[in-house]
Amino acid sequence: MSSLPDNPVIVVGSGLAGLMTALCLAPQPVVVVTRAGLGEESSSQWAQGGIAAALGEDDDAALHAEDTLAAGDGLCDSDAVHAITGAAREAIATLEGFGVVFDRDGQGRLALGLEAAHGRRRIVHAAGDSSGAEILRAMVRAARATPSIHFLEHHSAERLLTTDGRMAGLVVAGQDGERKFIAASRVVLATGGLGGLFQATTNPAGNFGQGIVLAARAGAKLADMEFVQFHPTALAGRTRPLALVSEAVRGEGALLVNDRGERFMSTIAGQELAPRDVVARAISAELATGRRVFLDARQALGERFGARFPAIHTLCRATGVDPARDLIPVSPAAHYHMGGVATDLRGRSSVPGLWAAGEVACTGLHGANRLASNSLLEAAVMGQRVAEDIRRAPVVMPSFHALPSAECAVEDEAVRPIVSRHFGVIRHAAGLYAALEELLPMVEEDGPATQPALVALLIGVFAYQRRESRGGHARSDFPLPQPRSQRQIMTLSEALAAARAILSHPEARSA
Ligand SMILES: Cc1cc2nc3c(=O)[nH]c(=O)nc-3n(C[C@H](O)[C@H](O)[C@H](O)COP(=O)(O)OP(=O)(O)OC[C@H]3O[C@@H](n4cnc5c(N)ncnc54)[C@H](O)[C@@H]3O)c2cc1C
Repeated sequence: MSSLPDNPVIVVGSGLAGLMTALCLAPQPVVVVTRAGLGEESSSQWAQGGIAAALGEDDDAALHAEDTLAAGDGLCDSDAVHAITGAAREAIATLEGFGVVFDRDGQGRLALGLEAAHGRRRIVHAAGDSSGAEILRAMVRAARATPSIHFLEHHSAERLLTTDGRMAGLVVAGQDGERKFIAASRVVLATGGLGGLFQATTNPAGNFGQGIVLAARAGAKLADMEFVQFHPTALAGRTRPLALVSEAVRGEGALLVNDRGERFMSTIAGQELAPRDVVARAISAELATGRRVFLDARQALGERFGARFPAIHTLCRATGVDPARDLIPVSPAAHYHMGGVATDLRGRSSVPGLWAAGEVACTGLHGANRLASNSLLEAAVMGQRVAEDIRRAPVVMPSFHALPSAECAVEDEAVRPIVSRHFGVIRHAAGLYAALEELLPMVEEDGPATQPALVALLIGVFAYQRRESRGGHARSDFPLPQPRSQRQIMTLSEALAAARAILSHPEARSA
């Protein structure tokens, strides 16, 4: 610790957003605090499909923006959509500059894949379906070779400290439980998603939204918390997390069938390549009737499956499924969080000195539903933008703080069943009310379940108040979208007040 620079920029998390921010800040001193080893326990490392970027001759950023707005189902922030899709070409070039090797076609041009709800082939990928692993390999290597970046690996950010409402530092805890205070007036949260709150998830199991807890407790505004994207085609099984069978497999022509061999997506607009929420709901409806659901890649890919999707092929084979000959069993799983810490297009949160980038942040790019492969793009573009903004911002010296009392060990097991039962693909008032009834005491008691319960409570309040079905949020009691829908933005104290108000009206169970 003594070797850390004074008042460094602190980046929490070492997925794509965190590493991009740290690298783009060089030679400014940065400390990367990350819970596991550098790049580990990140969704970035597991990404399969790739990064959306309008680079094809038949494509442009305006078409990419159009597809993003359509998937976002009326709730995207149009400025964010145009700014981020418009910055894709530069982001890809920056990643290549850091040593990422993207796949190219026979003529040496970037190979572009097709994914659901994209009107053009525009998914830039690396190492076939191991895009995330290749991107992080290069980014970790570049970061380790950058002398201005210091690392606190195997350390978790536990608490953000503010003085007079602005960032003053953070408390980190090592694996041995030893706690340290780092004075810092500039902190960037890049802590990723919250899929770990759900039993069925494709995210690293330990990521339940710690960045949301940090920001919420510091008083930051949170946006769109109700919008969780369920990936329709996780490899069905009992493991945690579930392996993912990328959309790109459907992009190559694989079909969804039930155990009667019926192609139940054939009558739905967009068919297998409809937006994720549509596909997830259709699969959930099949599963709810007791049927099983499969991906059939036998005709579309057959023996080519292993070459085109080597990682997915290995995952399937590990469960005894040969995609060239067998049907692949699939089910929906919590995959991506559209909501998070509300930021502007510089990545600034509502707390001075606190930025957020990547999945923990909510720029408004995704609206009610993320378009496939837009999240790595957002992480890369916003990492660059946060770095740019920090470089320009005047440096304030943080005023010293005493350590707050120690946090108790965090335990998410009590929260997961509540979240999985009530905040899944289909929600309703009675379930949301019941969940809030269980979660509020956990948040108030300050025990081991408090942190995951706090994230869950935020989802519950936002979901309860959204009396419509839109994008990733589906309510059986409000199956239609409302004509004039708006984004929701709240602080933690506002959400707690809302939860108490809902629970004080027992008739709200059916509201
Ligand atoms: C299986 C899978 C496949 C995907 N495929 C694609 C794809 O093809 N294309 C696409 O665009 N998106 C894809 N996504 C989504 C995309 O990977 C993520 O949205 C994106 O990588 C998020 O990047 P990030 O840097 O914000 O967070 P992450 O990559 O998740 O990194 C978060 C980091 O924060 C650390 N951390 C968390 N809490 C703390 C704490 N309290 N203290 C210290 N460190 C902490 C974590 O350990 C990790 O290092 C996929 C996601 C999954 C799970």
